[in-house]
Amino acid sequence: MHFFTQIGPLRQFLSFRRQQGETIGFVPTMGALHEGHLSLVRQAMQNDSLAVCSIFVNPTQFNDPKDLERYPRTPDKDIEMLTSVGCDVLFMPGVNEIYPPDVVQKASLQLGALGEVMEGRFRPGHFAGVAQVVERLLRIVEPTHLYMGQKDFQQVAIVRFMINQLGLPVELVMSPTIRESDGLAMSSRNVRLNEQQRVIAPVIFHTLGQARRDLAKDAHNRNEIENRAIAALQKAGLEPEYFDIVDAETLQPVTPGAPPRQMAACVAAWLGDVRLIDNLLL
Ligand code: AMP
Repeated sequence: MHFFTQIGPLRQFLSFRRQQGETIGFVPTMGALHEGHLSLVRQAMQNDSLAVCSIFVNPTQFNDPKDLERYPRTPDKDIEMLTSVGCDVLFMPGVNEIYPPDVVQKASLQLGALGEVMEGRFRPGHFAGVAQVVERLLRIVEPTHLYMGQKDFQQVAIVRFMINQLGLPVELVMSPTIRESDGLAMSSRNVRLNEQQRVIAPVIFHTLGQARRDLAKDAHNRNEIENRAIAALQKAGLEPEYFDIVDAETLQPVTPGAPPRQMAACVAAWLGDVRLIDNLLL
């Protein structure tokens, strides 16, 4: 695996490979890798001739400094995992490489209604930071395809919006959520769950499944289904922030009488001091 920490040498390497006619599949991550991340890398390796993964814990997307401090970092294990799946390139820059102090950052993109719902409501500034770092990374790597996980459903929508607004020449591919055998969506944050919390956590996935079944039976009672899901999460010992059934394209609440083509149930809940998110297409 080729390893870069600096933009210059990485761009030189990628530009040479591009000239050879290679396509670049890019998987941006914040490290503490698991099978979910590796599934994206495998997809990039399958569709593109060069798979590039980045590991960068982006400070500008953490609205809570404690969350940034506590974010798990396992660089040696990450490098081992990427090598074992055959990833071609790893880019692991420091903060000054991505945000050099002498470079003035442009005003962030207006995300509009997409950025105001769900995560946007509970993590102010989070998506501005995500859009900022993904744009920066896309301009550095200039990939053919960008691979992102459905696990972060709203993030995919925001990045799609940004790519369209800025006219960036990249195709976004959304990959399915990889889960543990009991349904819990894999996440770097799961390592912070204690034994008891780990047993409770799959309730999030079960609640999403129940909402899907309830909606299939009675599509008109979305509010009631959301409230039932919130109550089920609370009963299991979680503190839900939201459980929203939304239009899967606009992420806005579904208005009665105008059902969208596809709906999604999206949830964020605290288990102790760990914040977990998940979603299901309905
Ligand atoms: P992160 O390191 O959490 O920023 O995630 C990096 C990328 O991996 C994002 O596109 C995530 O959506 C994706 N990802 C994280 N967890 C999963 C999962 N369980 N299944 C599929 N993709 C995932």
